[in-house]
Order: sequence, then structure tokens, then C-alpha cells
Amino acid sequence: MMELLRPDEYIASAFETDLDRMMERGITGLIIDIDNTLVSWKTKTADRKVLEWFALLDAKGFKACILSNNTKDRVVTFTETIRVPAVYRAVKPRKRAFRSAMAMMGTNPRNTAVIGDQIFTDVYGGNRMGLYTILVVPVDHKEFITTRLVRILEKRIIDSMVRRGKLKRPEGR
Ligand SMILES: [Mg+2]
Repeated sequence: MMELLRPDEYIASAFETDLDRMMERGITGLIIDIDNTLVSWKTKTADRKVLEWFALLDAKGFKACILSNNTKDRVVTFTETIRVPAVYRAVKPRKRAFRSAMAMMGTNPRNTAVIGDQIFTDVYGGNRMGLYTILVVPVDHKEFITTRLVRILEKRIIDSMVRRGKLKRPEGR
């Protein structure tokens, strides 16, 4: 179980994903979470940083798909300007939505990575599917009470992995 909660990488921000290294690993598809991965909960539309990053992904030849547990409204409004496929109400960590995302990109578990800010949804879901998993530091610390409780558990798990040499923290964390 612990192994399924462990991300392959832990980085400071989705925008710092080492795209060249992804390419070297044979990764061609990126499944990307929205809330607290790309923007804070209260940011309704893709900001310039997000748009530029997706343009970069496209220029480098990556396929991308947004995978969010949030509502249709939230996801459709956010992805309007990005022009990538999206799955809303994904029920991560369940496998089904990860499969849909890969089908939309035409990729498979060997050449797909998932980028997200939560261990129990993004990382666990990705690992269950055999994807390469990247955990990012949440964009914003203001979160719902339920998420704050999850963060306490996540912190314990991350601390323990770091202590056992199983995970490296991003610089300065
Ligand atoms: Mg999230």
C-alpha cells in the first residue's frame, strides 16, 4: 500500500516538470489535475502561466489531458482556453477516468505520467494504473476543511518516505 502512495517525483510546481527528462523516459502523455496543481481553487480560468505552459507542452509534442474530480462547470470553464481534452468528476483514484484520459490522448500506462497535488487521488490513482507519478506542492494553502485533514495525513506519509530515503523533497521544502 505504501508503495502505491509514493510518487516517482516530488517537485515544487507542475510548471517545473522536467519535460526533457519526461521525453527521455518515453513519456508522451500527461494527465494533469487542476485544483492546487495548476491554479488555486478560486481561480476560475486558465491564467497566462497555464496557457504558456500548455503551449510549451504542445510545442514539445506532448499530449495532455485534464483530469479533475471537480464539477463539469469548473472543468469546462477552466479548460475553455487551453484546448485540451478534459475529464470532470473523475472520481480519482478510481481507474476508469485514468483509462478515459489515456484513450483521449492515445497513450498507454507505459508512456503516460500524472501530475497532481494529492497523494490519495492523483498519486495513488496513477500508481494503481502503473503510470509515472509526479506530486507537486499545492499552489495555495487555503483549503477546505476536509482537504486540510487530508493534508495532515499526506504530510505524515511524505515525512516518513523522506525519512526512509524513499522520496526527495523539492529544494527548499
Ligand atoms: Mg488537486
